[in-house]
Amino acid sequence: MIKVTAVHPGSIAAELGLQAGTELLSVNGRELEDFLDWEFLTAEEQIILHVRQPHGEEIEYDIERPLSEPIGVSLEPARIRRCANRCDFCFVDGLPDGLRDVLYIRDDDYRLSFRYGNFATLTNLKPHDVDRVIEYRLSPLYVSVHATDPVVRRYLLRNPTAPEILPQLRTFADHGIEFHTQVVMSPGVNDGPVLRQTLTDLYDFGPAILGCSVVPVGLTEYSKHHLVREPTAEECRAAIRLIEERSAVALAERHRHWAYGADELYLRAGVELPSAEIYDDFDQIENGVGSVRWLQQRIAGQAEAMAGWAGRRIGVVTGTAMGQLMPMVLEPLRRMTGAEFELIPLVNPLFGASVTTAGLLPGRAFAEALAARRDLDLALLPGETINEDGLFIDSMSFESLTAQVPIEVRLSQDFADALGTAAAA
Ligand code: SF4
Repeated sequence: MIKVTAVHPGSIAAELGLQAGTELLSVNGRELEDFLDWEFLTAEEQIILHVRQPHGEEIEYDIERPLSEPIGVSLEPARIRRCANRCDFCFVDGLPDGLRDVLYIRDDDYRLSFRYGNFATLTNLKPHDVDRVIEYRLSPLYVSVHATDPVVRRYLLRNPTAPEILPQLRTFADHGIEFHTQVVMSPGVNDGPVLRQTLTDLYDFGPAILGCSVVPVGLTEYSKHHLVREPTAEECRAAIRLIEERSAVALAERHRHWAYGADELYLRAGVELPSAEIYDDFDQIENGVGSVRWLQQRIAGQAEAMAGWAGRRIGVVTGTAMGQLMPMVLEPLRRMTGAEFELIPLVNPLFGASVTTAGLLPGRAFAEALAARRDLDLALLPGETINEDGLFIDSMSFESLTAQVPIEVRLSQDFADALGTAAAA
């Protein structure tokens, strides 16, 4: 059963009399479990929909409509699948106390892997889930492999019953499912020869594995430092060599680079970022893989869209990791727009200086940094710092931030989105 949270005006659902609180019970006799069932089972021109209205009446509707016309309901959020692992590097362990409850949930959900590109380990799949992945052809999936050696993987996941990943992937691949994979690299555990073997195994698996990224493990002040540490510059350089080795083979054989290092890996290694071509289709951009090259590509050719900023002063507020790379983006932006860009990298006051990613900066860090910046015409904040409810990680709302600072503030993913409209004169 799935509950309706809203009915879109003028939609089929509104016409039928569905309302917030209506329970969607089944489609064509198939019980509904979550949004996946709803989306896949209603993807037919004619369906029988069985519902229970808020006052208890059960009704069956025979609906016929063109597929282009959505039924028009918003659904309650799916109950998130909890993680069956206890990785030493888990971000949840690295959170300070006092944040929103939802942030402490260890989620590991193949449905969100398919829908949003969240990485899942697939260690909590039940036979029913396997059937659904195959039946609905949930592809591509984003999978945290970490190591193909089952002993190393179980150690990393702190899950002695984690199923072997390669046979698991094979079951899906045999039904046409493809994968983007990642290795979170924990030095002394899954780097070096283990990483080489993992990349080889995943590549040899065949074309169903579309690529593999290597991301250095990231810790906060609160993480389990007695159990896990961040890689040194030399360890990151060694990983980059393995990635390049594998990538050279892949390029020659499959015409894809296939193996990628996260931007953070290059930063820590003190090695210049590779050029944009190595990221293939930027499939793992959300994983911090190729973010800077992607940004450079996005702004190239957008000069016209970003007209009207000549002579303006724009503050670009970000984390210390992007702070090191951002000049590579701001210089071409300056040339294109004629605006003056000031980079404002912030140390994370909530997690400590070791957490350098922009997305985890709390609202109060932005508020403090911009409180006295009347000299700026505009401040740009990374779009990923707020969630869909408009909240920063410390629960400050974006509205509250804008009320606290004396200048206009815009969220931006790629500059063109925020600079497409000129600032107020
Ligand atoms: S898989 Fe590991 S890192 Fe991810 S939520 Fe579970 S315990 Fe945390």
